[in-house]
Amino acid sequence: MTDRYVVVGNPVAHSKSPEIHAAFARQTGQDIDYGKLLAPLDGFRSTISAFRATGGQGANVTLPFKLEAYELADVASARASDARAANFLRFDEGRIRADNTDGVGLTRDIEHNLGFPLAGKRVLLLGAGGAAQGVIMPLLEHAPRELTIANRTAQKAARLAEFMRGKPAAGPGKLRGVGYRELAGRQFDLVINATSASLHGELPPLPEGIFANGSLAYDMVYAKTRTAFLEFAAAHGAKTADGLGMLVEQAAESFLLWRGVRPQTAPVIAQLRCS
Ligand code: NAP
Repeated sequence: MTDRYVVVGNPVAHSKSPEIHAAFARQTGQDIDYGKLLAPLDGFRSTISAFRATGGQGANVTLPFKLEAYELADVASARASDARAANFLRFDEGRIRADNTDGVGLTRDIEHNLGFPLAGKRVLLLGAGGAAQGVIMPLLEHAPRELTIANRTAQKAARLAEFMRGKPAAGPGKLRGVGYRELAGRQFDLVINATSASLHGELPPLPEGIFANGSLAYDMVYAKTRTAFLEFAAAHGAKTADGLGMLVEQAAESFLLWRGVRPQTAPVIAQLRCS
């Protein structure tokens, strides 16, 4: 029987995950069916239970359920525990296993696809929500010189940095959480937008001069046209990238965890760019 997977979210209609996993399945000769499942905002658990009851094997989880997905799991990977959020669930032997593949998706896209090594870089992460939470440890594991988290609600960035500072990869003095005002006069080699500002056509309040020479601006949001953040970055001399590569890379990691085979991502990224 064909193994069944879904992406669960609210909203979920826009999700490209079914298209990505169908391409991976064709490429690797795996027999899977991957669909979309809209969960009511107060009905994530019951939606997952119903899908499991009909023989579903696993799920990707998107906004706004990543935290609930982590809490629902019987077993969580270190990546999910560090993030306190999960975008990956696998149902086996009566248990729910959770993982978080967003961080590895981001770092693979930046290092392998964009050819931008993270080691020794000054990295600025904008936002302190679920997306930011999921990528802090994976970024730190690539040995940047420093990682600054900046958030509109500054206390959230400070709390997040404080929580992560206890982890071995954080290293002394490497990680701080600040408000946007504290960025004045500072420069970074990599600025990652993990806020949802781009979804509303907004730009986080970045000071002039934030981009160092040769810097990269990365927006986790992907869109047909450049986001306000990427427009700002390009106007200030930075190279730019959107989050499509991250989306495909996190999906590839999920596919590997479920199916035991790693698909090629470059042709799928190219296919989505053309569609
Ligand atoms: P979230 O938990 O709702 O957090 C939203 C964050 O954005 C908060 O830190 C919030 O600051 C900040 N924010 C919102 N509007 C802002 C504005 N106008 N200026 C400055 N900051 C603003 O959302 P999330 O789960 O972290 O997701 C964030 C984005 O990442 C979403 O757009 C999502 O689509 C994207 N994402 C992409 C991928 C991918 O594979 N490419 C994967 C995961 C997420 P406050 O705390 O002050 O409210």
